[in-house]
Amino acid sequence: MNNNHVTVLEIDSKAVLHNLAYFKQKLQPQTKILAVVKAYGYGSESVEIAKIVQDQVDYFAVAYSNEGIALREAGITIPILVLQPQIQNLKEIVKYRLEPSLYSFKIFDAFMQLADETLLMNYPIHIKFNTGLNRLGFWHTDVPALIAELKKSNNVKVESIFSHLAASEDPYEQDFTVGQINNFAYIVKQIYSHLDYEPTLHILNTSGIINYPQAQFDMVRLGIGLYGFGNDDQETAQLKNTHTLKSIISQIHLIQPGETVGYNRAFVANQPTRSATIPIGHADGISRKLGNKNGFVFINNQPAPIIGNVCMDMIMVDVTKIDCNEGDEVIIFNHQQHIEYMAQKSETIPYEILTALSQRIKRLVKH
Ligand SMILES: *Cc1c(COP(=O)(O)O)cnc(C)c1O
Repeated sequence: MNNNHVTVLEIDSKAVLHNLAYFKQKLQPQTKILAVVKAYGYGSESVEIAKIVQDQVDYFAVAYSNEGIALREAGITIPILVLQPQIQNLKEIVKYRLEPSLYSFKIFDAFMQLADETLLMNYPIHIKFNTGLNRLGFWHTDVPALIAELKKSNNVKVESIFSHLAASEDPYEQDFTVGQINNFAYIVKQIYSHLDYEPTLHILNTSGIINYPQAQFDMVRLGIGLYGFGNDDQETAQLKNTHTLKSIISQIHLIQPGETVGYNRAFVANQPTRSATIPIGHADGISRKLGNKNGFVFINNQPAPIIGNVCMDMIMVDVTKIDCNEGDEVIIFNHQQHIEYMAQKSETIPYEILTALSQRIKRLVKH
C-alpha cells in the first residue's frame, strides 16, 4: 500500500495495554480474555493489535475467516475464533487452524461433514446460542439434537459455548439481560449434563464486563474496551485513547464576505474568513453530517469548525482566529470525548466512527 498519504491514524500501543490491564483487574484471576480484533481491530490495525496483546490474552476473535487468515499469515499462533463463518469458508478455516463459531444446523452439519471427510480429530469448534439478540445462534430447543450429533463424532470438540448480549450497556434493559444470562446458564447445564467434558463458557462483551461481572463464566470477549471506550463516562475516563487521527493543512484561503466555500456553496462568508483545506473526507470515514459546523478539528490546540459540506477527500475548516500555516498539523481527534462528540453529531456510536476509518489512511503504531 502506498503510504505517502499525509493523514495518519496513530495507534497507541501503551494505551491498548493500559486498557487491557484495566479490564483484567475487574476480572477473576482465572477468567480468560478473548480480545476482539475484527474490522481491522476496530478500525486500527488488527495484526498490530494482536501482536501488542497476544502474550496477555487467551483468544482472538474476528468476524470473517479472511480476517483470521491475515492474523495467521502475520504469525499469530494463539487460538482465533471466527464469529461469522459461512459454509464457503470452512475449508480455509481448517487450513489456517481457525476455530469456527457454529450457529445453525446448516453450518454445523457442513462442518461435521468436512470434519468427517478430512479425518479431523477433536477439532475445536464453538457453539453459539441465541438468547435474545436474535441475530445468530442455535435456540435452546436445539440442544437435544445438537447433543445427539456431538456424541456421534470425535472429529470435533466443543471448545466453547457462548452467547451474546443484546443490551449489556443499557441499565433499563437489566431484566432482559439477566434473562439472557439465565437462559444461557440453563442451556449450559443441559449440555454439561450430557457431554463428558466441559467446554469454556462466555457471554460478556465490554459493557457486559462492566455491568454484569457476576456473569464472567470462564472467559469474556473484550472489544471496544480495549480501544478506550467503556460505554459510560466514568469507565471511559479510566481508559486511554488508542486512536489518534492527524492530518495537515493543504492550503489556506482568504474568503471575502459574500464568497462561499465548498460544494453547493454551503458556507457563505459574512466577514473576511480564513479557510484551511485538510486532506480527509467522507471517503475516509468523516461523516457528511459533520459539515456545516457540526464537527471540528484542532489546529494549534484550538478548535476549528468544519465549514460547508464534507467532500469525498477534503474538509475545509474555519481558521480565521487561529494562528496557523499551510503544512501545520491538524488533529482530527485524539481523545475519546471528541470521538463521542463526533459520533453524536454523526448520529452514530464510537464503534462506527472507529471502524469507518478508511484503509487508505496510513496506520502508524506508537510503542
Ligand atoms: C463484536 C463482538 C464483541 C465485542 O463487543 P464490544 O462491545 O466491542 O466489547 C463480542 N462478542 C461478539 C459476538 C461480537 O460480535
